[in-house]
Amino acid sequence: MRSQRDGRGRYQKWDGASALRAEDGDLENGARDIDASIPSTETPGDFPESSPPPPPRRWLLWGKRIGRAALWLGAFTGLIALFVLALFRLFPPAASPVSKEPGAKRVLLVSLDGFRADYLDRQERPPTAGVRRASVSRTAADSTYLAPNLRQLAARGFRAAYLEPVFPTKTFPNHQSIITGQYPESHGVVDNVFYDPVLNETFNMGHLEERFWGGEPLWATLRRQGRVTAAYDWPGSEVTYRQTWKRPHAHAGPFNASRPYAERVRQIIEWYERGVVDDQGKLQVPDLVAVYLEPVDHAGHLYGPDSLAVSMAIAEVDQVLGTLVSGVRQALASRADRLHVIVVSDHGMAAVDDQRRVALNATHAAAAELYQRMAQVAKGAAGHVRAYTQDSMEERWHLKGSRRVAPVSVLASTGWRLVYDEDAEAASRQPRHAWGDHGYDNIEPKMRALFVADGPTFRRNAGDAPDRQPVLRNVDVYEIVCTLLGAQPAPNNGSRDAVAQVLRSA
Ligand SMILES: [Zn+2]
Repeated sequence: MRSQRDGRGRYQKWDGASALRAEDGDLENGARDIDASIPSTETPGDFPESSPPPPPRRWLLWGKRIGRAALWLGAFTGLIALFVLALFRLFPPAASPVSKEPGAKRVLLVSLDGFRADYLDRQERPPTAGVRRASVSRTAADSTYLAPNLRQLAARGFRAAYLEPVFPTKTFPNHQSIITGQYPESHGVVDNVFYDPVLNETFNMGHLEERFWGGEPLWATLRRQGRVTAAYDWPGSEVTYRQTWKRPHAHAGPFNASRPYAERVRQIIEWYERGVVDDQGKLQVPDLVAVYLEPVDHAGHLYGPDSLAVSMAIAEVDQVLGTLVSGVRQALASRADRLHVIVVSDHGMAAVDDQRRVALNATHAAAAELYQRMAQVAKGAAGHVRAYTQDSMEERWHLKGSRRVAPVSVLASTGWRLVYDEDAEAASRQPRHAWGDHGYDNIEPKMRALFVADGPTFRRNAGDAPDRQPVLRNVDVYEIVCTLLGAQPAPNNGSRDAVAQVLRSA
């Protein structure tokens, strides 16, 4: 999710020093911190051809916080109005012929926040369960599924059994891993909220300054190789990079969840119809457009993954996707361009409720003492909580190498939630029946994400049995797109095996 409430006021520095406070207003402050020198339209031609970009840096900064302990906070974020995330917006000048040669490969990469892998197979419930049949789009061949357009893409192309997210299974680390192909310890976005002890700053989702964002996003890789890119609401696409080549040529401006889907779709199709301004000032059809859509995650947080609200959100986002893809196909039809649609998600969603909770009741303490306390809590929690030091974190999380990881982390079992202070919690909120959350271990089935791809370069595996569909990691997506578009990738954690599983010619 993209919201201002993750980590509100809850992250603290646990080394006995002063508490870090990320109050509710911090994100707005973060938004105001955006470099006001960024122009409202990008100046073409400042691509630093003579100075190749530096290799992706590895973040070596040690954070101090009680990371996973705030999983439950996400449950409330769906209600919160979204905040300003970026400053500049690029519109193409008056229409002129798109100059690039037709027949090129194009990639439309769409991320559906919180779309769990198994939602693809979710079917309409009987009308008695409350789903209005008229609300669900359908095709004759695929009449009862909630996501017929997405299923059609899968049927024509490629579907992974699931896309394994990175840990923590949060929105920002996972979007940055998808778009850079790197694990969080390398790209540095280790959570939606984290503390950087060298910068002495707490990152949250309003921080768009380059110093927090490592790795080389796809739009940067492609742009420095002369390709043209655009992004619509993809987390991090609005980062105020000092070097022009790191940005997409066009993006949507500040994230605004209240912007109608029709408006979003119209803008993206227009990028394909009219082109975006390249580094030579010419209008070009973008090689890559990365798009983010949020409604399924919001419904999952508010009502839980098994809710009618999630079913409606699946149907809604599928309709948006169907309109978008058909519009883009139409825009490219006269050019004989080869459109490749990749639909992914960042993580799944697990049901939580008021019954399954563990109180941490943690107070300030030195790391060693805090770990002992959390180990005691874990011991009394019948296996539903695990406490970690930096050294004891799982190797497979690929987080230990980041100094932004807290000295002590606490992780709840899937479906369980952590409460900092039970008394304060009881006083501040009413009991609720059920809702949803993510952030849990990335190998948990409920955290599994989506990967569907349709285009002439993708293998077709619609006829394969589900147990023969491959599992991909989300760090593979970057390498897949680079290979598809013939671009030289930056260092990343993707595998050539995954590329070979997905692409025909790899
Ligand atoms: Zn998310």
